[in-house]
Amino acid sequence: MGIGKGELLKNYVGGEWIPSTVSRVEEVKNPATEELLARCPLGSVEDAAAAVAAARAAFPGWRETPVQDRIQFLFRLKQSLEDHAEELAVIVTEENGKTLPESRGSVRRGIQMVEAACGAPSLLMGQSLEEVARGIDCESVRQPMGVFACIAPFNFPAMVPLWFYPFAVACGNTFVCKPSEKVPLSQQFLFRRIEEVGFPGGVLNLVNGGRELTDALLDHPDVEGISFVGSSPVAKHVYTRAAAAGKRVQALGGAKNFLIVMPDADLDAAAAAITESAFGCAGERCLAASIVLPVGASHSELRTKIAARMKSLRLGNGREEGVQLGPLISAEHRTRVVEFVESGVQEGAELVVDGRDAELPERGHFLGPTLFDRVTPSMRIAQEEIFGPVLSLMPVSALEEALEIIHDHPLANASSIFTTSGSAARQFKYRVDASMAGVNIGVAAPMSFFGFGGAKGSFFGDLKAHGRECFDFFTDRKVVISRW
Ligand code: NAD
Repeated sequence: MGIGKGELLKNYVGGEWIPSTVSRVEEVKNPATEELLARCPLGSVEDAAAAVAAARAAFPGWRETPVQDRIQFLFRLKQSLEDHAEELAVIVTEENGKTLPESRGSVRRGIQMVEAACGAPSLLMGQSLEEVARGIDCESVRQPMGVFACIAPFNFPAMVPLWFYPFAVACGNTFVCKPSEKVPLSQQFLFRRIEEVGFPGGVLNLVNGGRELTDALLDHPDVEGISFVGSSPVAKHVYTRAAAAGKRVQALGGAKNFLIVMPDADLDAAAAAITESAFGCAGERCLAASIVLPVGASHSELRTKIAARMKSLRLGNGREEGVQLGPLISAEHRTRVVEFVESGVQEGAELVVDGRDAELPERGHFLGPTLFDRVTPSMRIAQEEIFGPVLSLMPVSALEEALEIIHDHPLANASSIFTTSGSAARQFKYRVDASMAGVNIGVAAPMSFFGFGGAKGSFFGDLKAHGRECFDFFTDRKVVISRW
């Protein structure tokens, strides 16, 4: 894509590639090989100000561009992404470590966001009612608000920012994107496509950096709204700080996802879905299975089936054919996940498969898949988000007990049930707190035309990502009352 190994990355501001004002950098390395890919500047308040100024300057002209014309740029972006999908998937694998099929899947989901945003002419329509009083009509229209910004995590470098900016600009806003400093290359590539398809300068801007840059965007008076995806402590910080500065915020946080398996479930299908959910993307997925609650008699057979599947998972560089489990993002993160495994052992959980024993490639931040059994709710591995290839079984006697355990946990991103009983499925759907719920689904990921986001400590805000509700997030509803 024209970025030399070890190159210092630039920002894309006002339609130009410009250097950051700071010299501090984060080294971006391939987590499978530890090869240096690029150097990401850890941007400053000045970098944020330049990007916001460019976005603000572009807003009046973009707002006045009819929606039908605005979406033509998105149609072209969609085609460009189709043409370059494989190149982008390779970049995602190189910088994040996930396998190529996983990267392709995430790129596909990203493209679907652009497609859904192309529906803006229909989805932006307002409401009207005549004769609300004698001779008086009333209408409500959606208007763009100005500059929006997103702050993204490391685990889906291409897809997550695409949850936001296609919709924001389709609505007539302008945008500043801040990818994770650990994985900035996918957005470098995407913004080259954005440049090629000819979006007017300043409509979409890219800035690179970490905390300081995030905070500068949260504080900037010309940013109307913030979309954040990352860990819960940072999501809470973003929500609080940006709201204090008067902004709209949607902050998607961390997860601890519980999956219930009823005794009547198809256990082969459940074991396959759970194994994929827990160990796909090396467990670095906000929808990953973390705790399985086998109900009654399902326990021992399910444990045997999951353990057997885990043993056949092929670990290695995600670029190689047939690899199913790539590396973790960094050495520090790997150390943290190993500490979780140690804490599970210390707190008395039964270690069924020990990922620390797996045969590992010489380089890279690899860790084998781990399975614990007889985990209890108070253990650290049951309380905290691990974000690695570690799965816990917590056997229970009844659906009621499973639902209570789920209810008592502070996080509520996604949750699933495996069953052939309509009644159990219905009880689960009705009562579970998580706002992404699956029935016989391992990864309950809403598609672009539905909203995405959790509940309780997994989400701060009210309007979720993509789907119809993002048209509420990215617009103000003006009500006009007329008498002629
Ligand atoms: P993170 O919270 O460390 O970082 C996310 C972003 O915030 C990055 O861009 C980073 O530069 C910035 N940041 C980090 N610390 C900051 C601070 N103290 N102040 C201001 N900005 C800060 O998250 P991560 O490790 O990149 O991503 C993994 C997390 O993201 C997991 O917790 C995962 O569950 C979550 N996630 C959630 C969803 C969801 O839909 N709920 C989706 C993907 C990832």
